[in-house]
Amino acid sequence: MTGKAKPKKHTAKEIAAKVDAATTNRGGGKAGQMDRTGKDKGGHSKFECPHCKSTAPDLKSMQIHHDARHPKIPFEEDKLINLHADNVAESSKPRPGVRGSFKK
Ligand SMILES: [Zn+2]
Repeated sequence: MTGKAKPKKHTAKEIAAKVDAATTNRGGGKAGQMDRTGKDKGGHSKFECPHCKSTAPDLKSMQIHHDARHPKIPFEEDKLINLHADNVAESSKPRPGVRGSFKK
């Protein structure tokens, strides 16, 4: 304890809340990540159809979907939206609002 107790802008409670927010966000794992990216709609599906936004858990399913729904469009693997790859790329970027340094 020092003699002068200056009023702090950041109280311990406030910091604790921030730490909690930061660690909860990060520690949420897949659920937290889904929550942040708003990609929950696809569930655990990996691929998203670029033509109709339908999702499929794997390439084969997506190909079946494509053949059934878009027979006139050539199936191009490159055009599929890989939700998982997108998530990985995103999590490696620094995220505003997530303070890794506060992680305990
Ligand atoms: Zn489709």
